[in-house]
Amino acid sequence: MDTAERLSVLQINVGKRCNLACKHCHVEAGPNRTEEMSREVMEACLRLLEENPFATVDITGGAPELNPHFRWLVGECAKGCAHVIVRTNLVILLEEGYTDLPEFYRDHRVNVVCSLPHYTAKNTDRMRGEQVFRRSIEAMKRLNEVGYGQEPELVLDLVYNPGGAFLPPSQTAMEAEYKEHLLREYGVSFSHLFTITNNPIGRFGAFLERSGNLEDYMGRLYGAFNASTLESMMCRFQVSVGWDGRLYNCDFNQAADLPMADGATIFDWTGKPMAKQRIRFGKHCYACTAGQGSSCGGATEGV
Ligand code: SF4
Ligand code: SF4
Repeated sequence: MDTAERLSVLQINVGKRCNLACKHCHVEAGPNRTEEMSREVMEACLRLLEENPFATVDITGGAPELNPHFRWLVGECAKGCAHVIVRTNLVILLEEGYTDLPEFYRDHRVNVVCSLPHYTAKNTDRMRGEQVFRRSIEAMKRLNEVGYGQEPELVLDLVYNPGGAFLPPSQTAMEAEYKEHLLREYGVSFSHLFTITNNPIGRFGAFLERSGNLEDYMGRLYGAFNASTLESMMCRFQVSVGWDGRLYNCDFNQAADLPMADGATIFDWTGKPMAKQRIRFGKHCYACTAGQGSSCGGATEGV
C-alpha cells in the first residue's frame, strides 16, 4: 500500500469559477461554474495549518482570485506559513477590481505561479482564447514592475502545458527557450518554468475521447512510464482540499472525483495531527510517471 507519509504541502482549491475556459483544463473551470469554497471551510484549513507543520500552502482554483474570501485567506495563510503559492492565470490581474493584486502578492511575499501554456501567441491563444497571450504578457509586465521575477524573494514561476496529445519536452531546455524568447520579444522575465503533462481527465480527457485519441495518448503515457519518478510523486507529500472541504491526494484526483479512501473532510482532520494517508491511484496517474515526471511543481525526475 502506498501512503503519503511526510505531508508538507497543503493545497487548497477555492473553487471552479474562472474568467477563462481553457481547452486543456482538467478542472473544467469556467465563468459559469458556481462551486466556491466557503469561509467556514477556509477556517478549518487554517486550523489544520496551525496544528500541523506544513512547509507550503498552495492556493488554486479555477481562478482563485474570484473567490470573495481569497484575499483574507492569503493574508491568514501568510501569517502561519513562510511559503504561500497562488496559481493565477495572469489575465485576471488586468480585470477591474483585481489590478492591485501584484502589489497585494508582493506585500504578502506570495510565490506566484502563472499558467502560460506557450511562449508564442498562436499556441497560447489556441488553448486559452483570443488575446490571452497579449494580456498575459501585459500582466507579467505588471508583476515585473513590482519586483516579481526581478528580486530573489519575489518568485514568479510559469507553467507550460503541451498543446495536444504529446508529452512535454525537457523542462530545462524549455525554460531556457521561454526565458530567451520572452525577454527578447517582450522584455519580461520570470524565475522558473514548470512543465506539466496534460492529464487525461476533465476537458482534456473529453477532447481526447471526442477526437478518438484517448487510447493513443494512454498508450503514450504507459510507454513512457519511468519508475524513477515514483518517489517524488506529489501525492506522497501533499493533501489537497476541495472547495466543499473534501480531502484528496492531489488536484487531479479532485478532478477525477477520487476522494481519500475514508471519505474524510477537512472537518474530520481539524484538531488532530495528520496520520499516514493511503493514496488512491487511477489510470490518470500515468501522466505523473511518464518521461521526466509531472506534478503541480513541474518535472519530478531527480527532484
Ligand atoms: S486551465 Fe486554469 S485558467 Fe484555464 S480554465 Fe482551467 S483554471 Fe481557468
Ligand atoms: S494523479 Fe495519481 S500519481 Fe499523480 S499526484 Fe495524483 S494520485 Fe499521485
